[in-house]
Amino acid sequence: MRRPARAYIDLAALRHNLAQARDCAPRSRVVAMVKADAYGHGLLEIADCLSEVADALGVACVSEALALRDAGIGARIVVTQGFKHAEELHAAAAHALDVVVHAPYQLTLLEVTRLNTLPRLWVKVDTGMHRLGFPPAQAGRVHAALSGLAGLPAPPGFMTHFACADDPGNPLTGLQLERFAATTAGRRGECSLANSAAVLALPAAHRDWVRPGVMLYGSSPLPARPAETLGLRAVMHLRAPLIAINRHPRGATIGYGADFVCPEDMPVGVVGIGYGDGYPRHADSGTPVWVGGRRAPLAGRVSMDMLTIDLRGVDARVGDDVELWGQGVPADEVAAHAQTISYELFCSAGSRTHRLYS
Ligand code: PLP
Repeated sequence: MRRPARAYIDLAALRHNLAQARDCAPRSRVVAMVKADAYGHGLLEIADCLSEVADALGVACVSEALALRDAGIGARIVVTQGFKHAEELHAAAAHALDVVVHAPYQLTLLEVTRLNTLPRLWVKVDTGMHRLGFPPAQAGRVHAALSGLAGLPAPPGFMTHFACADDPGNPLTGLQLERFAATTAGRRGECSLANSAAVLALPAAHRDWVRPGVMLYGSSPLPARPAETLGLRAVMHLRAPLIAINRHPRGATIGYGADFVCPEDMPVGVVGIGYGDGYPRHADSGTPVWVGGRRAPLAGRVSMDMLTIDLRGVDARVGDDVELWGQGVPADEVAAHAQTISYELFCSAGSRTHRLYS
């Protein structure tokens, strides 16, 4: 038996959002990010759809790339954390993956493994994120060393990742651009910098390849720019049924902690989804859902497999579908009410609910 919550995945919206990314960065090729189970939307289904319209797919680790190859996906695949040991390096070469080289141990593996044919390589430059990559002062030397390896299908590329591109005007972004430009100047190899925020708001970062993720799934990475103003369409529509409607008198409290106090005699709906299904437990009273053709706010704390909503003024019946996020209520808005980001909502709920594709 399935739990009642379902995630409807709109593949036409996904393709539309990819076209938006192309419109924003018309001179760049697109690595569509499908890591983490395609941000909870389903790795194979999303990759199958995007491999027809993107120039490459982006995953975090070799195992995700191999799952795609096993499913018959022949598209170019960029592995942003590269290989961790010799076996993964062999697999990357055998399956023609693009791998990111970010640490000295990977250089050693490339030297000692002595493959006849190497995978495509990207040098990760740590321009300020301080997560993965070689500092700019070393990255040029690493690139030169890699360029000298026999069996390379193409000159190694350069990649970096922004720490604050979602905060336009943050001075770190300009610094990262400068450091990247100084590192790559005069060297052969393709360049890739931009995540969704930079695709949307930082044309200077577009270069040869862009790597949008969250915008493909219909979310805005820019807090001041709601997704619909960016022409993005929701891909995931998370729905669950109303399993009860109860009337409570003025002063009655709802749910754990008795946080919500009914201000008047009122109907309260109980929806069959909770934090066990990946809905955020910290969504506050007031977080909107979509039911009966209008918005209604949560009333009280989210439980493990239920949540309660204020149905005053809403024409709804037991069995009706409630949309937790999607078209009527953007995931970004729910995320703001839960002090998180839509990325986390998608990963949590998408992977735990039954997904239906259209
Ligand atoms: N590139 C890399 C290396 C990433 O880690 C990510 C996601 O975190 C992306 C691109 C896509 O970022 P976004 O989903 O913000 O577009």
